[in-house]
Amino acid sequence: MLLVHAHPDDETINNGATMSLYASQGVQITLITCTRGEEGEVLVPGLSHLASTHDDQLGTHRIDELASAMVELGVEDHRFLGDGKINFRDSGMMGTAPNDLPDVFWQADVDAAAALIVDVIHEIRPHVLVTYDEIGGYGHPDHIQAHRVAMRAAELSPLSGNGWEIPKIYWNAMPKSVIAQGIEAMKASGSDFFGAESVDDLPFVKDDALVTAMVDGTAHVDAKMAAMKAHETQIALDGPFFALSNNLGSQIWGLEFYTLVKGVAAAPFDENSREANLFAGLVP
Ligand SMILES: [Zn+2]
Repeated sequence: MLLVHAHPDDETINNGATMSLYASQGVQITLITCTRGEEGEVLVPGLSHLASTHDDQLGTHRIDELASAMVELGVEDHRFLGDGKINFRDSGMMGTAPNDLPDVFWQADVDAAAALIVDVIHEIRPHVLVTYDEIGGYGHPDHIQAHRVAMRAAELSPLSGNGWEIPKIYWNAMPKSVIAQGIEAMKASGSDFFGAESVDDLPFVKDDALVTAMVDGTAHVDAKMAAMKAHETQIALDGPFFALSNNLGSQIWGLEFYTLVKGVAAAPFDENSREANLFAGLVP
């Protein structure tokens, strides 16, 4: 399984339970993180000096956070895009000054960056690729670029060297019904869900009909929560991610959703006709 993500922490928020579940089953998992997340906001007051606006040392710190998170999830093979050759810097939120810096991921040549992933695909020959949709989930330039680069790599990988075609590709998805339920539960507790009044305020939700797979990783939710805590500068213990689990129970983070965009859906299906295993239908 190959996952392509933009920043350290995205893999845990989106796929932490999935990664822990499959790692426990002996699936070989490779995570490629495209940037070190240098432009992230620092949510721990004592570490605020790390921010790009001060010492600009956040990227180095987040390398360690990611490594700790991967220990929690049982994932040994995690790499940064271009490891040892080239570093792509965090581009910052859309419309901010870092977008235009020459070394940011948003400015990278898509084919050149994809070629770096093609090398990894040829090396590990993944059966499943997980990445973002076309808007990168919520419109962050690095997420959009990670989508473009990962999809381009999947397109190019059969065409060169010891070519390999990835049989199944999934995009992370957040079903509308699940988010609506989250918003209602947070309102009932007198809080809010990432500032949203209604599910229609959130750009990252998908119509349920477009969500074709759900991995039930509830047995691995403790590992996911521990990995979230490892991303200490990014996911504050008193912030919305933990508030959600405090109100809804940590189980809310155990279900992870996907849209199959390449390959054939296969049984077992759940009661909503969603695939329950990303590897279903593949020859073991
Ligand atoms: Zn991100």
